[in-house]
This record gives sequence, structure tokens and C-alpha cells, in this order.
Amino acid sequence: MRLILLGPPGAGKGTQAQRLVDEHGLVQLSTGDMLRAAVKAGTPVGVRAKDIMARGELVPDDAVVEIVADRIERSDARNGFILDGFPRTVPQAQALDRILAEKGLALDAVIELKVDEGILLDRIKRRIEETKARGERLRADDDPAVLLRRLIAYREQTAPLIAYYLQRRVLHTVDGMAPVDTVADAISDKLRRAAAPVAATARKASVRMEKKTAMGPRKGSKPEIRKKSSPKAPKAGIRKSRGGAARRASARPNKRVRRLTKRR
Ligand code: AMP
Repeated sequence: MRLILLGPPGAGKGTQAQRLVDEHGLVQLSTGDMLRAAVKAGTPVGVRAKDIMARGELVPDDAVVEIVADRIERSDARNGFILDGFPRTVPQAQALDRILAEKGLALDAVIELKVDEGILLDRIKRRIEETKARGERLRADDDPAVLLRRLIAYREQTAPLIAYYLQRRVLHTVDGMAPVDTVADAISDKLRRAAAPVAATARKASVRMEKKTAMGPRKGSKPEIRKKSSPKAPKAGIRKSRGGAARRASARPNKRVRRLTKRR
């Protein structure tokens, strides 16, 4: 299963992603966590991202796409993943489409956590106070003024993704203001429903097949000639082995990322 959790900062994406990790054995790919790790390690991406993140603005698309493209390549992401905090812009969503298409993969669902921004601000202020009370260090962007900027960035740059995924018929919206367990149940319900049409189609096909086999060939019907599948055609959903060209391409991340983030 390949999922996206969409929602403004503080909507509970991280909490729900963790529940999905526990229930479905998927890996959580949080670009916020990856970027914070890059900042801490002082990598070139981290150096570039540090001040931008502290201001509550979005890190440039090419930097984020590069880390996501590399992360999705890792073996633990092969059986599915939850993207938490990515994509955050339409060009990032387009780049993700290209990354998945190159692997013959598709998104199963995008879950939007819908929240009230006013209540969200109160929630984050409370979280800041609780973190301080525990004597823990605050994140550089745990500041109401920065949060406001992050909410504006969400409204202006990320909210257009709702229409983007609605058009692609993968968007499911849940009430993110409900208690954590209720939100988790609502997400599970949406995922079951999203999987149901696929399962129903497979069931119908198998019933048709069984009927056909039980009846035998129709009188006067020509024997069925099965087309040989082309040996070159990759099977949908199956990862192709990486040839020399692909290996060489991944050794040149900047060129690859430029292609992935190119505007259509
Ligand atoms: P998060 O932990 O997801 O709230 O992300 C923290 C910060 O990391 C954001 O405010 C951005 O500055 C940066 N960030 C995380 N994900 C992205 C992304 N997909 N695109 C751009 N910036 C991001």
C-alpha cells in the first residue's frame, strides 16, 4: 500500500502515520524528519534547509524530491509506505507521479486530515507549553509566529493538492478534529473502501472464470488462442531489476531530480 497523509502542520499526520505503521507494517516517510536529520548531520541539503525550516517556509522542491526519490529506493519501502509531509506542492506531486510511474507503481490513497485552523493554533500553543513543562527542547519552528507562516504556506502551496488528488479519484477526507482513535478508525474505514472495488473486481473475474471453466467451450465457438505476452513488457506492480543505465542515473541525483521536478 502506498499512501499520502495530507493536512496542515499539527493536524496529527505523524500520530496517524505511526498507527498505520503499526497496523499495516508500512514504513513512514516523513520529509520533516528527513530534513531535520539532514540539518543535524550538516549535509548539503541540511545546510540549505536549516534557515528556511526555522522560518516556517517550504524547502525548495528539488531538494525535497531528491531525498524522497532516494528514500523510496531503499528496500524497506518496497512493500509500501506512508508519505507524511510530502508532497507539499503541485510540482512535488508531479515529481512523485513520475517517480512511481518509472517503477510501474501507483498511489492507493491520499488521506486528507481536515482541521479547523483556529483550533489548530490553540493545539500547537498547548503542545509548545507541554513540551516546555516537560523540560524538553523545542523544535526551531515551534513558535506561534512560525506556525502561522507554516499554515499560510499550507493554504497557498499545499491545499491545491486536494483538487489535484480529487481529480485523480484517490482523495479521502476525514475529520482530523475528532479524537485520535476515531480518526484512526475513519482512516481504516476509508482504506477498506478504497481496496473494496479492487477486491470486488477480482472476485467477479474469478466467478466468471469458474463459470466459463464449468460450462466448457460454447458449441461452435473457436478454440481460444491466448496471446503470448511480450517479453519486454514489464508487469504492472512488479519492480523491474535496475539495469546499468538506472544504476548510472541514480549516481547522478542532481540530473535525475532536475528531470523529476521539471514543470510540465
Ligand atoms: P513537518 O515536520 O512535516 O511539519 O516539516 C517541518 C518543515 O520541514 C516544514 O515547515 C518545511 O520547512 C520542511 N518540509 C517538510 N516537508 C517538506 C516538503 N515536502 N516540502 C518543502 N518543505 C518541507
